[in-house]
Amino acid sequence: MERFFLELDPPEQVMRSWPHVVVVGGGFAGLKICHILARQPVRVTLIDKRNFNLFQPLLYQVASGLVSEADIASPLRQMVGDAPNIQILLGEVVDIDPEARQVVFNGQHYGYDQLILATGSGSTYFGREEWRALAPPMKILEHADEIRRRLLMALEEAEQTTDPKQRAFLQTVVVVGAGPAGCELAGSLIELMHRAVQRNFKQLRQSDCRVVLVDLVDRVLPTMAAPLSAAAAGHLEGAGVELQLGFKVESIAPGRVCLLGSAGAQQLEAATICWTAGVRASRLGKLLSERTGCAVDRGGRLEVSPDFSIPGYPDIRAVGDLCSYSHTIDAKTLPGTAGPAVQAGGWVARDILARLTGQTIAPFRWQDLGTMAVIGPWYAVADLWGVHLTGLAGWVVWALAHLAFIPDTENRIALFSKWMWQIATRQRTALLITGRPDQHLGVDVGLFRAERPELSRSPGRRLLDEQHLLVGG
Ligand SMILES: Cc1cc2nc3c(=O)[nH]c(=O)nc-3n(C[C@H](O)[C@H](O)[C@H](O)COP(=O)(O)OP(=O)(O)OC[C@H]3O[C@@H](n4cnc5c(N)ncnc54)[C@H](O)[C@@H]3O)c2cc1C
Repeated sequence: MERFFLELDPPEQVMRSWPHVVVVGGGFAGLKICHILARQPVRVTLIDKRNFNLFQPLLYQVASGLVSEADIASPLRQMVGDAPNIQILLGEVVDIDPEARQVVFNGQHYGYDQLILATGSGSTYFGREEWRALAPPMKILEHADEIRRRLLMALEEAEQTTDPKQRAFLQTVVVVGAGPAGCELAGSLIELMHRAVQRNFKQLRQSDCRVVLVDLVDRVLPTMAAPLSAAAAGHLEGAGVELQLGFKVESIAPGRVCLLGSAGAQQLEAATICWTAGVRASRLGKLLSERTGCAVDRGGRLEVSPDFSIPGYPDIRAVGDLCSYSHTIDAKTLPGTAGPAVQAGGWVARDILARLTGQTIAPFRWQDLGTMAVIGPWYAVADLWGVHLTGLAGWVVWALAHLAFIPDTENRIALFSKWMWQIATRQRTALLITGRPDQHLGVDVGLFRAERPELSRSPGRRLLDEQHLLVGG
């Protein structure tokens, strides 16, 4: 079996004897691995089910029309494809045979000498998968597009709705999960609605715009220090976000979220519902656990050894969101964020190169670069090694950190200019309603397709029906 370049373009003679490293996943960790292994004496195959690297921390900016999809994603071939020793293959790895040292994707078995799994994580609804279509998560670009589409469609329908109750329903958003992603999304959506309604919609009132942020925990940003949580909560409330904290989501139905808290039950009616509450490791974690016996934690993450290998399988490593790594100085598990993913990816790549020459490198030590969350225009909270920053100072640190972290220079320039444009004009650059080609057919009859029987029903009902047709992903 040819183990590199699939025989279409056989490797140069010199490469044939080089060890073959297969990297699955071109996210934060996978990309870093490729950058370090580029032009080194190893043959690398990077397999990803998408052809791009996605900068997930800015997904909320796509969802709220601040920037476009291409501003936060870059084609993998452009990023690392020009290195002569790196082969990029598009496909989803569906199985692993550790004994034969093969991965399975696109119906093929593909051999490796070293395997690095960096397939990240997805969203979980804690066993209530039926909520997914009703309350899309925010994990991939299509989710962000879908959230933006639902909100903008709801505002368009509200503009043509005479019933005030129905209008209020269409202008309401519920965001479940008050971690960084939920806070960032809620803060950005209320700003979008207020601005859009004030400037561009003639029939809507700003006071009818509602964004409700819900969480079981009794404070926002629960992993950050209490004063930063309090500052973020104060800013969100000042911007108009309603906080419903200490509430468990009991059920989600089309246009309705039922909550239960110590103060009793309550029901929220909203045309747009988003879910940022649960994260679960990629399904390759469970699969590899079945194949190797490696333990997984409650979040489905593989409990790896100090060198990120799977116990008993030194040639398989798992990094980033897929692994649970607790060999830290304080024995605390690494957080599922971009920093540890990049650092772990870099360390594993360097370790592989060192071992080629019989050398060893210093054990992995995680450098905590701090945590931060942006809550609104010019306002972020940041915890930098115990130094707390809020407001503009936090925002500047947040913006610089994100610009430094984004791996593509073109995107860095585009993001910087769009942020400056937005600050100067308060205008968003990406408010297109896309993702429903069938809408095009209805252009000459207005917003709704004339042939659809539900035309006789209320606009809010129609919107929900349409949402139902879509799978949240
Ligand atoms: C909305 C949101 C906001 C966030 N904000 C922040 C933040 O502000 N700061 C921060 O530090 N972190 C943030 N994070 C977390 C951060 O994005 C993750 O920790 C990081 O992406 C993990 O990196 P990774 O390399 O493990 O996986 P990822 O970056 O998720 O990459 C995984 C890759 O694997 C591919 N893949 C998955 N399964 C397969 C398969 N079976 N076969 C082939 N390819 C596969 C995927 O297509 C993807 O390209 C945020 C996450 C989200 C969702």
